[in-house]
Amino acid sequence: MPGKARRAKKATSKATVHKSSRLPTKVLETKYIFVTGGVVSSIGKGLTAASLGALLEARGHKVSMMEFDPYLNVDPGTMSPFQHGEVYVTEDGAETDLDLGHYERFTSMVASRANSVTTGQIYEQVIAKERRGDYLGGTVQVIPHITDEIKSRIFDVAQGAEVVIVEIGGTVGDIESLPFLEAIRQMRVDVGHEHCIFVHVTYVPYIRVAGELKSKPTQHSVKELREIGIQPDFLICRSEVPIDHNLKSKIGLFCSVRPENVIAAVDASTIYEVPLVLSNERFDEKVVGRLGLHREIATPSLDGWQRIVNVLKEPKQEVTIGIVGKYVDLTESYKSLNEAIVHGGIANNTKVKIEYIDSETVEKSTVASLLSHVQGILVPGGFGERGAEGKVLAIQFAREQQIPFFGICFGMQLAAVEFARHVCGIPDATSREFALGLKRGVRNFVIDFMEEQKNIKDLGGTMRLGAYDCHLQSNSLVRTIYGADMIRERHRHRYEFNNKYRGLFEKHGMNLSGICRDRDLVEILELRDHPWFIGVQFHPEFKSKPLIPHPLFTSFVQAALQARKG
Ligand code: GLN
Repeated sequence: MPGKARRAKKATSKATVHKSSRLPTKVLETKYIFVTGGVVSSIGKGLTAASLGALLEARGHKVSMMEFDPYLNVDPGTMSPFQHGEVYVTEDGAETDLDLGHYERFTSMVASRANSVTTGQIYEQVIAKERRGDYLGGTVQVIPHITDEIKSRIFDVAQGAEVVIVEIGGTVGDIESLPFLEAIRQMRVDVGHEHCIFVHVTYVPYIRVAGELKSKPTQHSVKELREIGIQPDFLICRSEVPIDHNLKSKIGLFCSVRPENVIAAVDASTIYEVPLVLSNERFDEKVVGRLGLHREIATPSLDGWQRIVNVLKEPKQEVTIGIVGKYVDLTESYKSLNEAIVHGGIANNTKVKIEYIDSETVEKSTVASLLSHVQGILVPGGFGERGAEGKVLAIQFAREQQIPFFGICFGMQLAAVEFARHVCGIPDATSREFALGLKRGVRNFVIDFMEEQKNIKDLGGTMRLGAYDCHLQSNSLVRTIYGADMIRERHRHRYEFNNKYRGLFEKHGMNLSGICRDRDLVEILELRDHPWFIGVQFHPEFKSKPLIPHPLFTSFVQAALQARKG
């Protein structure tokens, strides 16, 4: 665990100690930006923080970002996507909040376990220390023990970073986030006012009947923050309609924030416009000025972001991709996937219309009417038997109708099940995942348990997680698409392709074109007699960025465009 390793190192190192505190000089040179949220949840704190990260990077600063989540789960890995949205997986295999996905998509940072911290982790650590006797007989309390642990997590990330952006999850006023707010209040004292700023993202509702924007909820939210001892330096005011100078002045007056630091963040047409919106308000310039950051690049170029927004606003063409999944009501459940598809569209100067198809509605009698109008079919990651047969039908339809098909993780596994059943002549082929607890005699588990998963009892953090190398077969489509013979992608699964069926699959026309050599695991399936039929055991969506779209998504959208023409 890199976080732990770093903490251990810090304890023994002879770092220079600042005269007014016992913090190493290294972390005192770092600048800290704390982002809180007010009024309502889902106002885009994560996106605001990520966009600020992008703007600071464009100015040449080295940015690191982290998030605190105020729930008691150790991580969101065991939470339902309906509760929490997507579980974002980092290179080092941490299961984290989807905001980390925004951080990685908007900046060049490579997130790790240390960048996503929950209340559950903080308490777990403090209780473990207490059991070890580390507190030497003291009474263990929220202040200072919990708040110290929170601060130590921030200092871990601060080592080596020029700027750390820390997002506090939840909404100001929640009981759960109080220890985090208290910790960041203390931090301003620890590291000094000049090294630290508070950014409060708030909502300014437009009351249609009155035809007016209302600042009162923001005033109350800031009042609440100030009661805790935090005076925001900047207010990011989210609103449906533009906020004029008079309203900014009024908000500034009531909240003790300079009017020029009241930043209007009017709804953008795409999330990738947010850096441009904030830069138009000169937010980054003011932040850099306030923190006294050395100006590396005086006039940063945002051409890349502008180009993306132009494509998204005025695409050359359009294509429809059908996603056949179980969590169709919530686009949040497939956040990175949605974004990766959009990125594939950007690379092709194309608007991708994503249509969600509830796999439970896909039946033999409905599959054609549900899917014949789409130009590409994607079956994403998923868990459990419910809706799986509908996905198998959708895959069969894509295979037989020569429609571009992309299977991700569970989607790849079900593509194997479908192929075994309908091409290899194994009608009872299935995945071990569906047979758990059923003692129904011998079945053909084309997808089976991974060896090391057999004796695992705990559900949290025990899947095959994080990045692994995968070797791509020569002359395969994936090798051409990636333009490389070795790739490294992120995983999150318990089951895998059963090597017993390798020969049969190859014989019937399915290439096993990506292999994890260390463990001899099949990571990619690709159908030979098909324009584009690829299933991957990993999650390529986690590594796609708007400025660097993932090659598999670029190629999939391109194939869908060709299918449209053909
Ligand atoms: N449920 C499957 C497994 O555990 C696939 C997981 C996924 O799609 N992320 O292997």
